[in-house]
Amino acid sequence: MKALEGKAAVVTGASRGIGEAAARELARQGAAVVLAARSRDRIAAIATEIVAAGGRATASPCDVSRYADLETCFALCRERFGSLDVVVNNAGVIEPIARLADSDPEAWGQAIDINVKGVYHGLRAAIPIMLEQGGGTVVNVSSGAATRPMEGWSHYCASKAAALMLTRNAHLEYGGRGIRVVGLSPGTVATEMQRSIKESGVNPVSQLDWSTHIPPDWPAKAIAWLCTPAADPHLGEDVSLRQEEIRRQVGLA
Ligand code: NAP
Repeated sequence: MKALEGKAAVVTGASRGIGEAAARELARQGAAVVLAARSRDRIAAIATEIVAAGGRATASPCDVSRYADLETCFALCRERFGSLDVVVNNAGVIEPIARLADSDPEAWGQAIDINVKGVYHGLRAAIPIMLEQGGGTVVNVSSGAATRPMEGWSHYCASKAAALMLTRNAHLEYGGRGIRVVGLSPGTVATEMQRSIKESGVNPVSQLDWSTHIPPDWPAKAIAWLCTPAADPHLGEDVSLRQEEIRRQVGLA
């Protein structure tokens, strides 16, 4: 039997990058998956490919900065697949990269709406459903930026620090009632986000050689692993995929 057989999952930011890879991996491991993002054609096409490969998947257009969109995704997941066992709060943005004094207050706030409120919305809408079902897992995709300031990334670092505190707080409030909440700090991953970072030329991450980034299917495998009891010792905290011991447990080289 596959590790996630019988589970139903929603992945936000599933139109590309880590979210797309996570949706494909969860489906490969037996979960039914709802792909959520703003690019509706793209998530529909990926869902079709997953189904063609023998998996179960559907798409639900979603802007995570809008609470009602998360409620719609989770309702669709229960209606189509019978439950909501896993939520991957992965949607996130790195723009607008700018030093504090040059940053645009409106755009700075929009990043917070996605990176912080998006995670809060996912937790807020999922926890009551999961409590009613008797349990569930929420994986919040975090970053090393949650605990380290980076030039030009005040919005991003502040948002990931807030998301880490949401992971801790949710674990404190509901960890004893079957709700598994955990964060994943993936390291640097070869996605469109890293392309934007490289183009910005700001801070040491933009100077990294492309070959140092890991492929998106590595964090995808880590996300699937976090949905299993093997990851229980890490609940309520960010797990770093930079750690050799974690990579080994996930089954990566
Ligand atoms: P990406 O390639 O830029 O993909 C971002 C995803 O988020 C897209 O699917 C995008 O879809 C979605 N998204 C953005 N705003 C959204 C919104 N308002 N509502 C719903 N979906 C939204 O980035 P990635 O590298 O895969 O990043 C995924 C996560 O990993 C992010 O949380 C990021 O902070 C984190 N992370 C990445 C790295 C890295 O090196 N790449 C490192 C550490 C952490 P639409 O545009 O279609 O909505």
